[in-house]
Order: sequence, then C-alpha cells, then structure tokens
Amino acid sequence: MEHLAKPYPWQSEQWAFLQSLIGQQRLPHALLLEGAKGVGKRQIAHSLGSFLLCQSPVDNSACGQCRSCALILAGTHPDFFLVSPQEKSSVIKVDQIRSLIDFVSKTSQQGGRKVIILEPAEAMNINAANALLKSLEEPTADTFLMLVSHQSSKLLPTIKSRCQSLECPIPDSGSASDWLAGYAGEDRAGLLLRLADGRPLAALDLINSEAMEVREALCKDLVGLINQTSSLVAVSQKWSKEELETVLFWLACWLGDMLRWMPTGDLGRIKDLDQMDLYSLCQQRGQYKALFPLMDDVILARHQLGGGSNPNKQLLLENVFIHWLSWLNVT
Ligand SMILES: [Zn+2]
Repeated sequence: MEHLAKPYPWQSEQWAFLQSLIGQQRLPHALLLEGAKGVGKRQIAHSLGSFLLCQSPVDNSACGQCRSCALILAGTHPDFFLVSPQEKSSVIKVDQIRSLIDFVSKTSQQGGRKVIILEPAEAMNINAANALLKSLEEPTADTFLMLVSHQSSKLLPTIKSRCQSLECPIPDSGSASDWLAGYAGEDRAGLLLRLADGRPLAALDLINSEAMEVREALCKDLVGLINQTSSLVAVSQKWSKEELETVLFWLACWLGDMLRWMPTGDLGRIKDLDQMDLYSLCQQRGQYKALFPLMDDVILARHQLGGGSNPNKQLLLENVFIHWLSWLNVT
C-alpha cells in the first residue's frame, strides 16, 4: 500500500458518523460493514483502522507521518491484525481465528489501541465463526474488530447481533460517476457504472481487467453464431480458454437487459445500450417466454463454475450457446 486508505468521496456520511461515535467514545468494539461488493467497505474499514492507530490524526484522518502510520504503510504494524482467506483458499479457518484471539489477549505493543479487520466475514467456516463468537462475547478495552461482509445474510445471527452494523449502500450516481470519470473518462463512466450495478469499484475492475475487451469480442462472436457465420465448436473452444466467469457475466448481463426490455420496449431499462444490435436480432427471432429457461441455464453454469466442481468448461459454454441458438431457432 503506497498511501494510507482514506474514505471514498461517497462515504462522507458514514465517515462522519464513525467520527461522531469516536468523539463520544461510543465506537463499538465490533463493527459490521455491510453492503454489496465493490462499494468500498474495505476502504472505510482500513481508513478507520489507520485513524484509530494514528498518533496525531489531522482533520479526522490518519496523519500519514507518525511512526504508527509508517508501520501501517509498511504493512508491519504490530497492533493491526488482518484476517482473510489464505492463498488459494476461499475459507477463513479456525486456526486463523485462534491467532486473532491470541492477538486480542496480548497488550498493544505501541501502547494504544489494537485493530482487527476480518474480510470477508462470510468466508469463516462454522468452526471459525463459533470461535470468533466466544471472543465477541468478551470484548477487550481499546480493541476494535471490523467485519467486512458482502453477504451478511450468510453470517451467524449470533455474530451479527454482537456487532453494530454500518450499512454501506450503493452510492448516488453523481458522486460515483464523478469519481470514476477520473479513471475512465466522463464518456465511459456512466456505461461502466450501469454495467456494474452502480458499484464504483466493480466498475473500475471492468476497465482494469480485460472484461470490456471480452465484452466486445464476445458479442461479435455471438452475433456470428446467430447469423451462422461462425462455428459453434470454434467459438466455444476459444471462449472456454478465456476467463469463463467474465464470459458468463456478460451473457447474463445481456439476457437480463432483454428480460427487462422486451416486454415494454423501454430503453431506459437497458444497462448495455451498445448491445442493441444483438438485442434486436434476438427479439426478431426469439420468444420472450423462452428467455427465462435460457437465463436459468446461464445462472446454473455460473453456479457450476463457482462451485469448485471443476466442470468441463468447453462443454459448459457450448451448452449455453446451443440453448441460446435453439431459442432463436438457429439450426
Ligand atoms: Zn499518523
């Protein structure tokens, strides 16, 4: 990390709220930051962590100059503890929570507060969650735990009830697109935000990854399949070697657009207006009702891909394309 984390522009309300809690010495020992992935929950947790450890905060922010800030920047602050799934794992294990409990039991090395960030909290397996529960029941003075959760409905109710919740909503489109325009230009910011359902960091990911290039080439190939100028096997083979998650994300995005647009013809319900040629082509040939089972197929394929069962990627994708083509009576 080159800079200390600071809240994003759209988080000023949450930040002010946290500052007021600190000012009144009412900051809870366990805070649950809840909201969709890509709205900046991690950022506000790290901002708060640096602030709580900073020796001389300036304007409600960590100073970036003191010894504590330097240790945070170096990633070596002894009173800061980060828990997240270890390499190649998607799970936070009980051993990691035991280390956390060990950290809580020790006195702070810099003589002040201790901060723990656990992200994402839903990654804890049941043993880990139960171990954490014990620690939540006996809070320690000057130790602050922040749980970051993209899917807080998956957390044990007993954990949620022991934390104070801080909702991190989808920001208003104005401040999000102003911020995103700094990275993507004003022209593209609106489209990117729509594609990412208003989540600014997810929108940034779209341009920092190859997702937008995939989108363009994939759409061409799909139109080629529908017009029977491309081969099903070749197209499936090509895309199964790419980031299949991204491929399925776009297919779901386009089907979602058509599901919202076709019954009403309302263009305002379309996220990806660039893809109107594809949508019109599909509308001319396909029945609206048959879109639902096709969408189910794509959702299932995404589920299989994410489920760790290691499916045959080419077959998975080929089946989705076959279903898509049979929807449009392309044989
Ligand atoms: Zn400082």
